[in-house]
Amino acid sequence: MSDTEDPHEAVGAYALHALPPEEAAAFATHLAGCDACTREVADLEATVACLAEAEAVTPPDALRRRVLERIATTTQEQLLRREPSRREGPRLDLEV
Ligand SMILES: [Zn+2]
Repeated sequence: MSDTEDPHEAVGAYALHALPPEEAAAFATHLAGCDACTREVADLEATVACLAEAEAVTPPDALRRRVLERIATTTQEQLLRREPSRREGPRLDLEV
């Protein structure tokens, strides 16, 4: 962490253990005297723990079947063709 950087900005990377060792040590020193960062690290670590416990769940067959049926019968939105505006400059018609 350089002297010009705001030490508070490293809180997310610190909570994710993504800081290089020397920056983590510098942030830990900052953390010892900063209540705001201490609270934010605690909140982020709790969130990370929740995310780590999350797991993919296979949907029940009936739900999967209903979703696939709905996909097959739902009309897709049409993409609107955007006319070029004059502000975009001249249009080049190139054959591809
Ligand atoms: Zn701080």
